[in-house]
Parts: sequence; C-alpha cells; structure tokens
Amino acid sequence: MAELQHKILLDESQLPTQWYNVVPDLPSPPPPPLHPGTLQPVGPDDLAPLFPMDLIAQEVTTERFVDIPGEVLDVYKLWRPSPLYRAHRLEKALGTPARIYYKYEGVSPAGSHKPNTAVPQAYYNAKAGVRKLTTETGAGQWGTALAFASALFGLECEIWMVGASYDQKPYRRTMMEVFGATVHRSPSDLTEAGRAIRAGNPEHTGSLGIAISEAVEVAAGDPEIRYALGSVLNHVLLHQTIIGEEALLQLASVGEAPDVIVGCTGGGSNFGGLTFPFLREKLAGRMSPTIRAVEPASCPSLTRGVYAYDFGDTAGMTPLMKMHTLGHGFIPDPIHAGGLRYHGMSPLLSHIYELGLIEALALPQTECFGAAIQFARTEGIVPAPEPTHAIAACIREAQACTESGEEKVILTALCGHGHLDLAAYDAYLAGRMVDEDVTDERFAAGLADLPRVPAGA
Ligand SMILES: *Cc1c(COP(=O)(O)O)cnc(C)c1O
Repeated sequence: MAELQHKILLDESQLPTQWYNVVPDLPSPPPPPLHPGTLQPVGPDDLAPLFPMDLIAQEVTTERFVDIPGEVLDVYKLWRPSPLYRAHRLEKALGTPARIYYKYEGVSPAGSHKPNTAVPQAYYNAKAGVRKLTTETGAGQWGTALAFASALFGLECEIWMVGASYDQKPYRRTMMEVFGATVHRSPSDLTEAGRAIRAGNPEHTGSLGIAISEAVEVAAGDPEIRYALGSVLNHVLLHQTIIGEEALLQLASVGEAPDVIVGCTGGGSNFGGLTFPFLREKLAGRMSPTIRAVEPASCPSLTRGVYAYDFGDTAGMTPLMKMHTLGHGFIPDPIHAGGLRYHGMSPLLSHIYELGLIEALALPQTECFGAAIQFARTEGIVPAPEPTHAIAACIREAQACTESGEEKVILTALCGHGHLDLAAYDAYLAGRMVDEDVTDERFAAGLADLPRVPAGA
C-alpha cells in the first residue's frame, strides 16, 4: 500500500519574511474611510488616538510587500510555519475524486490564526511606548491572542467580551486571564456606550459592534492607551497573508495548485490571509482558482447586506468604512460561531467582491456542525465553530466532484480548533441547535439607519 502523505511541512528557514499587500495589484484601490463629521477621507492624525503610526502606515501602504520585523518572526517561530494537511480520510469518506487540503492554524498558542496579527500589533504598540491595549472579543479567540501577545511585549490588556460568548464560554475568559488580561462582559457599566445599551436592556447579550464601541471609547480617552482590532482593517489582513504565503509554498512542494479556495468570513481576516497570495497569482495569470467566502446564514453581510458607508461599531464612533454591511445597529442571533457575528465585512474584501474577484455563500449552522462532526471523525481535529462553515463548503464542493467526476484541488483554512467551544458541539449533538431564519424585515430594519453619505463623497 502506497504511503499517504498527510502533512506538508516547511522548515523554519522557509518561513516567509514579508507580508503581502494585495491593493497595488487590484484594478482599482478600495474607497477610503471617511471622517463621520466632515465626510472627508480620514488622515493619519485622525487615527493616531487609536493606533500607533507604524500600523497606520501599514493601513494605507501602497508597497506590495512589507518586511516582517525580526522580533515578530522570532515569536511566529513558536508555531510557524503551520502545517498544511491533505484530508485523505475525509476524501475517502465522501467518495470524492477531489483532493482536499487544509491549512491548520489551530497550532498557535491561542488555538487560532489571530496571533498572526496580535503579535505584530502588540510589537508596534510596545515600540511606540504604549502602556495598555483595549479590544473587543467575540468568541474569545481574538482576546486570547491579544492577551498572549501583550504578555510577550509587556503591555497591559483590557478586553470587552460579547455577553453571549462570555456566558457560553467561561474557559475562554479564564484563558485570557491566564495571559494576564482583564476581561469585562459587554455591554458593561464601564463606558457610556455600554451604559446606554444596558439602560434599554440590562440582560443584553451584546454584539461585536457594541464591544468595539466600549474598547474604542476607553482608548480614545487616554493617551497611554491604544486600541487593537482583530479583523476587518487592511493591516490585519496584511499580517494574515503569512497563511497564504506558506500555503503557496506547501502546495507547490507537492506539485499542486488549487482549483477552488473556500474560507469562512467574519470580518475577513483569515479568508483574506489565505486567499490574497493566491489572488496575486491569479491576477498575474499563473493560476486560476475560484475563490469563495462562506458566511453564516444568520449574519450574511456579503450575500444579503448592502455595499455602503457605515460605522464599524454600534455607537458610531469609528470612521465610516465602505463595506458590505447589515447596518451597524443589526444585532445577529447568538449563533455559536461568535467570531462570525459582525455586521460588516472588511472594506478591502468587500471591494474585491464588488470587483467580481471572489464569490460568496451563506450556510446555516446545523449544516456546518454536521460537516465538522464528519471532519472530526475522519481527520481527528475538532474545528472551531467559525471554520465549520469553511468545512461545510469544502464538503459541498467535494460532493459536486463526486457527481461530476472532476478531480478538483480544494484548499481551505482550518483557522482554529474548537477545544473551548465544546458547548456548541454539545448543543448540536443533543439536537438543541436551531437555524433561525432571518426575515427580510429584520435586515431592512438594520439597514434603515445607515449614515447618509452623498454619492461621490
Ligand atoms: C475571529 C475568528 C474568525 C472570524 O474572523 P475573520 O477575521 O473573518 O477571520 C474565524 N475563525 C476563527 C477561529 C476566529 O478566531
């Protein structure tokens, strides 16, 4: 029997030393963020209360490649390069002629892809003399990553955790505290934004938009504190391209190129990180993968939102970003993939979707957990709730290959493990997980209070 190669590894010496910026390779640049008062493009000074200058520069850079600092590479080497797996046993169970590869980011200290950006963000903030970082966290993955990175670079870290996840995932909070962070249930009584929401409903389960408002409010009010965002922004997607750069090398080492790349999208960072280096190759005519974003049916910003300027947070404190949005007031149902419960999508990814360079698909959570169970029972890894969406889309594609007989190469990112998300699996296995149908009326209500931005602004 021929030996199966499951794991495709790179040496530490092959770790990429640059991040990739897709913007200069696009046919047009994405529309700029606007100041909500003047409706003029925001400048570096507008962002300085929230971010250090090195990150602001990366947010707007037109360079194609950005060098990764040596201090960051040294930390990356704790778990990078991460493995690429061929899912032989899943393929066999599906009876598919497709070849399925997954890039596994669950090997990081936080158990997800989030440290790829948490580490450089903490590094640049420490370099700028910042004392404390504030942030929000949905499922707790980003908070865990930033708590870990803050500990390494001697920063304090204060985190507002979406109430629904705080209640569902107590061990996530513990993990952040182990790394030295302070964690609050959001909405909290510590900020004006939180108090305003709690006045209407003290039991509010929260949202990423609300938690962002709280973290931004605290950072904006103190010159020693800065804010860190775990997704959505250009510099975050830039840092995550380490995933795709490694995957390119790994697939090339076994003589493969992807026909289809699928990934889950909350704010777009693991998806952009995996796919942008492949999009570069596609735009240069060197390969031609179909690239597909997968979002939850209960928070479908790409497939049911509008492409418009909107706030990144609920209280309306951030710059206006042109993105696919369900409206900054939209509160998604408390589904188990907390990391996908964001009303908007990365402006860069939204622009790329508008350019027709990627496709999008929305899937209900029960199909996703069903796929994850099949994956766990064949590949041995319990996925985080978010990438169950990517796996379900992989399985759909592989099943289509079974019907058509096509031998497609499918690539995805298994962007985190689900060891701290077992309550979600428990709900699924006990038959307690449901798919809420979100009505057009509810989406319309979310979109009713979009900020008015004149065309051409
Ligand atoms: C945060 C998170 C997501 C959603 O964020 P993206 O920016 O869309 O990647 C998805 N999966 C995992 C495991 C996460 O931690």
